[in-house]
Amino acid sequence: METIKAVFNGKFDSLKNIQISPFSRAYTFSDSVYEVVPFYNSKPIAYDNHIKRLQYSSNALSMKLDLNVISDEIEKLISSCKSKNGYVYYQVTRGQDLIRSHIYSNDIGLETFGYVLPHNFETKFLKIMICKDLRWGRCDIKSTSLLGNVLSMNEAKEKGCDEVIMHIDNILTEAGASNLFFVKDGHICTPSLSNNILPGITRQILIDALIEIGLKVCEKDYTLEDLKTASSAWLTSSTKGIAPIKEIINLDCNLNLNDECYMIAKKTFDSKFLARSHFDNNVV
Ligand code: PLP
Repeated sequence: METIKAVFNGKFDSLKNIQISPFSRAYTFSDSVYEVVPFYNSKPIAYDNHIKRLQYSSNALSMKLDLNVISDEIEKLISSCKSKNGYVYYQVTRGQDLIRSHIYSNDIGLETFGYVLPHNFETKFLKIMICKDLRWGRCDIKSTSLLGNVLSMNEAKEKGCDEVIMHIDNILTEAGASNLFFVKDGHICTPSLSNNILPGITRQILIDALIEIGLKVCEKDYTLEDLKTASSAWLTSSTKGIAPIKEIINLDCNLNLNDECYMIAKKTFDSKFLARSHFDNNVV
């Protein structure tokens, strides 16, 4: 396997040489926040938004970051990558306890960890399973507490699906690792942000790009019934871009992959942020 470039507590090394203590609070409590920063042609996409969200997440956990150091490390990881297209995973953990304790001591030092991987940003057509949202009450924080997502997404995988769409008492939240959009009565809709939804950077990029061409995106609480009547639906994320949904296995709906609003959204997103050829390489 090729060497994966990584950085741990400021020291660059290959991933296989990095070791952490089992008393790292990432290990015992998932007391960590993270970002996934995509880059294309060796340039990070929406970099400032990712850094701002990392700051938001770390503030929510009362962790003080040195963003200049983190930016420098992310930049170095991107330039060390053999491929011009990929993403950096970057995680900040509260630190290492002397002995496991829910209450953290204020003088432990943050642990930082990042690695870079090549990635093909190709369009994937998704098969989806609807499920209950099992997660905690602060999904707006990009933390590594992802067990609800992990359980649901693996159940979906067993059923031949690529992703889940989650709901709380019938109100749609988001997908396991992406945000949800759909078209209803000719309007582009997405669940409004709340503590139950990660404020996706791709989600916001798409909303802003659509506003720029004079289209409005409706943001409010939507139900499973709304999704049933959708003419198309798609997910957004930094690594997926815009990924159209071809099938939802446990919802009676009729999604059109050639839906006009979907096509406009996809074209607007692609032409604004990525070279056309980049996302034209469809993989069904
Ligand atoms: N929602 C969840 C739960 C996610 O994990 C992600 C990305 O990993 C997203 C939404 C999409 O966010 P972004 O567009 O910033 O990648």
